[in-house]
Amino acid sequence: MAETVHSPIVTYASMLSLLAFCPPFVILLWYTMVHQDGSVTQTFGFFWENGVQGLLNIWPRPTLIAWKIIFCYGAFEAALQLLLPGKRVEGPISPAGNRPVYKANGVAAYFVTLATYLGLWWFGIFNPAIVYDHLGEIFSALIFGSLIFCVLLYIKGHVAPSSNDSGSCGNLIIDFYWGMELYPRIGKNFDIKVFTNCRFGMMSWAVLAVTYCIKQYEINGKVSDSMLVNTILMLVYVTKFFWWEAGYWNTMDIAHDRAGFYICWGCLVWVPSVYTSPGMYLVNHPVELGTQLAIYILVAGILCIYINYDCDRQRQEFRRTNGKCLVWGRAPSKIVASYTTTSGETKTSLLLTSGWWGLARHFHYVPEILSAFFWTVPALFDNFLAYFYVIFLTILLFDRAKRDDDRCRSKYGKYWKLYCEKVKYRIIPGIY
Ligand code: NDP
Repeated sequence: MAETVHSPIVTYASMLSLLAFCPPFVILLWYTMVHQDGSVTQTFGFFWENGVQGLLNIWPRPTLIAWKIIFCYGAFEAALQLLLPGKRVEGPISPAGNRPVYKANGVAAYFVTLATYLGLWWFGIFNPAIVYDHLGEIFSALIFGSLIFCVLLYIKGHVAPSSNDSGSCGNLIIDFYWGMELYPRIGKNFDIKVFTNCRFGMMSWAVLAVTYCIKQYEINGKVSDSMLVNTILMLVYVTKFFWWEAGYWNTMDIAHDRAGFYICWGCLVWVPSVYTSPGMYLVNHPVELGTQLAIYILVAGILCIYINYDCDRQRQEFRRTNGKCLVWGRAPSKIVASYTTTSGETKTSLLLTSGWWGLARHFHYVPEILSAFFWTVPALFDNFLAYFYVIFLTILLFDRAKRDDDRCRSKYGKYWKLYCEKVKYRIIPGIY
């Protein structure tokens, strides 16, 4: 069996339950937000009366219009990824010693996408409210389409891997769930994970945030300040993501997690449905916060997004300059850590132990979670479901911090131990 962080029984149980429960959860979330006023109690009452048959009744069939919307959006994003110009960027050295090369055209793709979407609306060619009206069918089509996509990735990993950063662990479920290839490509240039994670998943977040705003405008003839704060914060976050997209190619999602159900299905389905859900909730629940409170929340949210960005920037600048940069105005303190690649080569990496990275080993997750809180809190506290993403994100990032610590411990050995002695806390300084 492949090396896993948790015990084999926990690993299998969590993989199988995520495979089984994530798809219906996406439908239940949408149904509760859009048709049950965001009330979990109302949805529970519905299932109490209708049982499992109720789920089949509410599960929208993937309609032709849903497939058309997904296909046009996906094809447009793929074309932008391939055709827009961008700087050549090298990713980090892979475990097998390869260095993937990317074209950094994310910011251009982001602005072209939003300008096109708003242009289509402005000139009356396509009304984004249609996307909201067919959201259930779109999520349903995404659920099934992405499952097929993950099966194709699994087959590709077996028959036509793009590089030697691939291979089977000998277990079909683990191979399907965690993926076969680290950097699958179509041809030499079309990187599949850049497409699924960035250009389809993260881009859909911005597109849907705008969609929800427009839908509320269509319903009420105006946009509430709560919706405005939510949309602006989500857009600032996604803009930051694309601004820093080449940095994202150095993170765990791209450099360590293989292309399987966990990452690809997650980005194709979970990001558009769950990550955008606070905005989905606000469409039918406009709250007027008043200018002062709205501005406070907006400023707090922007500050958290900035700190999260600055943590990532600090680490990458430190690595890029080989430690020859200033961190919070001083020369950085560091550990020179050596490790061995799977092909037996010895390499060194620098670990930053000052700045944000001296506060805790994964301090950057704190502002990430707080940003999500600030774009949800405009919904106030009538329904807990609006906070589902914040709760999910907290669990995800605490688990991720453990996964990353375990991976780094096995990669760097005594150097990682030294880092843990110097920087004692995992996420929250002084607490955890
Ligand atoms: P990163 O991959 O950016 O950072 C962890 C990696 O950095 C480690 O695997 C290690 O890799 C290297 N590293 C660890 N400690 C140090 C150090 N002290 N100095 C230098 N390098 C170090 O983390 P994430 O991918 O988790 O996060 C990236 C961004 O994405 C964050 O902003 C995070 O908040 C966000 N995020 C958002 C999620 C969401 O769903 N909204 C989910 C996950 C992340 P190496 O092998 O190179 O040494």
